[in-house]
Amino acid sequence: MSVNNVPFLDLVAPHVELEEELVAVFRKAIRTAGFIGGPMVDGLERDFAEFCGTRHCVGVNSGTDALRFALMAAGVQEGDLVVTVPNTFIATTEAISQAGARPDFVDVDERTYTMDPVKLRAFLETQCVRGESSRNVVHLETGRPVTAIVPVHLYGQMADMDPLIELAEEFHLMIVEDACQAHGAEYFSAKEQRWRKAGSVGAAAAFSFYPGKNLGACGEGGAITTDDEQIARTCRMLREHGQSKKYFHDMEGYNGRLDSIQAGLLQVKLRHLSKWNGQRQQSAKVYDELLSAPGADPQLDPPFVPEWSRPVYHLYVVRVAAREAIQAALSAAGIATGIHYPVALHLSPAYAKLAYSRGSFPVAERAAEEVLSLPMFPGLGPEAQQRVVAELLAATAATVGAAAR
Ligand SMILES: *Cc1c(COP(=O)(O)O)cnc(C)c1O
Repeated sequence: MSVNNVPFLDLVAPHVELEEELVAVFRKAIRTAGFIGGPMVDGLERDFAEFCGTRHCVGVNSGTDALRFALMAAGVQEGDLVVTVPNTFIATTEAISQAGARPDFVDVDERTYTMDPVKLRAFLETQCVRGESSRNVVHLETGRPVTAIVPVHLYGQMADMDPLIELAEEFHLMIVEDACQAHGAEYFSAKEQRWRKAGSVGAAAAFSFYPGKNLGACGEGGAITTDDEQIARTCRMLREHGQSKKYFHDMEGYNGRLDSIQAGLLQVKLRHLSKWNGQRQQSAKVYDELLSAPGADPQLDPPFVPEWSRPVYHLYVVRVAAREAIQAALSAAGIATGIHYPVALHLSPAYAKLAYSRGSFPVAERAAEEVLSLPMFPGLGPEAQQRVVAELLAATAATVGAAAR
């Protein structure tokens, strides 16, 4: 790899920087055989709850299981319908299905790519009817009760929560946040006149500690955050075979525990998360300025950040018309990029059973064709970013015409 190459992310440097502290965690685990549960898991749960501003945190083995357990513990039942967005990682909808519900979609906002409250209202008012019971919204086509929504805080930016909360209250829906990309992101609630952290707004929230996330384990991991004692308790049971104490099973659960070693490593890394998020925000500012500079392509907008949002830039995503050609040109110039995500989920073969087609969610579909994630990680550095943007502008200029829409 030439020195001028720009990787998409760098998972080596932060671990090498913390190597002694991380190795000490491993040493402690092997000397105490503290592999499952114990003080390292308790410590991470305490620290991460504090970081998110919630009363409880439950460590589990992945973000997917965090979302599944959160949905089940919040009260989603077999046969329910749970609404999310089409432009997310498939784990969002997998978790809904695994909780026994059927996933369904509403389209996203054109500029933030997060759940559009106007479209959610339209869905609830035109495709559902009010029933008699407290589980009182019924989806007309399937006859299923609509019981929860899963807004996805995509790319490190929170969804517009105030209007979603209002709808959830009006229609008696639970909110479970997919905060898997949003450790530390904040939302200004005009209603409450305060900034609120991702993971502290819904009935419960799911985080992923997959290595590439803003807070990543050295392996798999995830967590549920909630203020609700009962939800936290149920998640603790679900992650451990439904037991309230060893070999006393109130229900069937799962093997969904967070490894103690991963918890210990995460606890070390969590102490650096705010600094790392700050570095991502700084890099985002550099990209924003480079993309807005005189002479830059006026079609190439920096990501939109509403006044109510303090994003943590899990990803820095721009939109380009001739994406495949531009990505290839960047790759040839030694610049790695990503696409999050190339297929809107309703068009994925995995959800053929939902019988949607092209045109069902046009905003998400267009995004799937045009989004391009630029290199973004703590320690990226402005020189590398100048190269990225210079090559990006050269590539977009070269594809103009061929890419006329
Ligand atoms: C990463 C991610 C997940 C799943 O997390 P895992 O830890 O990989 O199971 C779920 N939703 C979103 C939006 C994600 O980015």
